[in-house]
Amino acid sequence: MTSSLKERLNYDKTFDCVQCGYCLPACPTYETMEKETHSPRGRINLVKMVAEGKASVEDLKEPIEKCLGCMACTTVCPTNVQYGEIFEGAKRVIDEERPRRLVEDFLFQSFFPSSKWMSTLGNATWLYQKSGLQKVSQRFGLTKRAPLQIHEFEAALPSMPTPKKRRRERVDRYVRKRPAVAKIGFFKGCVMDSVFFETNQNTVELLLRSGAEVVFPEAQTCCGALHAHTGKVDQSVELAKRNIEAFEEEGFDYIVNNAGGCGARLVEYAHLFDEGTEWYERAERFVDRVRDISEVLVGLDGLAFEKELSRTVTYQPSCHLRNVQKVTSEPLDLIKRIPGVELRELERPEFCCGSAGVYNIVNYEDAMDILDVKMQDVCGTGAGGVVTSNPGCQLQMKLGVEREGLQMEAVHLVDLLMEADPRPKW
Ligand code: SF4
Ligand code: SF4
Repeated sequence: MTSSLKERLNYDKTFDCVQCGYCLPACPTYETMEKETHSPRGRINLVKMVAEGKASVEDLKEPIEKCLGCMACTTVCPTNVQYGEIFEGAKRVIDEERPRRLVEDFLFQSFFPSSKWMSTLGNATWLYQKSGLQKVSQRFGLTKRAPLQIHEFEAALPSMPTPKKRRRERVDRYVRKRPAVAKIGFFKGCVMDSVFFETNQNTVELLLRSGAEVVFPEAQTCCGALHAHTGKVDQSVELAKRNIEAFEEEGFDYIVNNAGGCGARLVEYAHLFDEGTEWYERAERFVDRVRDISEVLVGLDGLAFEKELSRTVTYQPSCHLRNVQKVTSEPLDLIKRIPGVELRELERPEFCCGSAGVYNIVNYEDAMDILDVKMQDVCGTGAGGVVTSNPGCQLQMKLGVEREGLQMEAVHLVDLLMEADPRPKW
């Protein structure tokens, strides 16, 4: 049975908002755009009005599309408004009214969920970087002609390993210590596994050195976060089912990921199904075992860092790791364990960097305004590097460094940990 507009917009949930406005100072888009309609309270009111027929879906479009989905508002809301569900419902209704685009359908239905396409993306990026095409394109400004400021993002991409190296290093099961201290199912991610392959391999290495066994279930696919954030809720539910099934076969102690955005989607799988249904129960069992890499490394406590790095860093938390997965202290704890590293914390770590999935690509100017606020904070720490826990934040930080003309590195936490030569304690 087709659900009503009110149901699709999660109208009932909008009544939890008591209009107090406590969320306004926490909202990056309210701060940079200075409009009530671009605040959490304003967006909730608009959703309510559309559900009641007092405003059109068109009125909702811009305010919702300018929302980062960072969920900072949910961390300060005294009545626990489920903004994420209201936001996703609004995205879904907006998406339903848009004309279909073949390229978009291909990307979401076939490209992101396919390991083969992801591997092709990684290999094509390697070819582009190593063949000299990247240098030529940059030198003659060819990439500047590409839409959506793609040239800035491609310049910030990490250097790709060769296809041969990718094939050689990738096996489905890694074990170094018997008996292993934990059996881990690794959630490799879609873009993470193609473009950030080295970071994934470093994650596996950290887990192995901690004494764990690591398995890559073959049937896993994209987490569905990009689908959900663009309103393709039904597709994201299908992907969730495929992942739940893929990780059910073996008795994993943990399902580990290293990307805040993916992890936030994985921990929300149970919300996608009706309570009491079989899929809800299966999703709950899946969610119970989902962990960010930092939580598992701190929990296993199997590493001793040998190399002194002698540098100052600050930590930019992924909003989805912090606000949805509620992981805050573990990344800081790990950074503090590295000999020679001085951690200088941000004044406003909760403020989004403006990356937010594909937000910085589709809302470039707004994302850069938000990034500028973030970079003021980063610069204020006087640190020589930024550590992140999500690939999107890492790329955004690289753009921020470039925009400010700074000499500063932006690294993923696991890459920094590997640089410090972690040795097994066992
Ligand atoms: S803090 Fe919560 S209840 Fe208050 S206005 Fe914001 S969403 Fe509504
Ligand atoms: S999710 Fe972030 S950007 Fe969107 S309303 Fe909440 S605080 Fe503002």
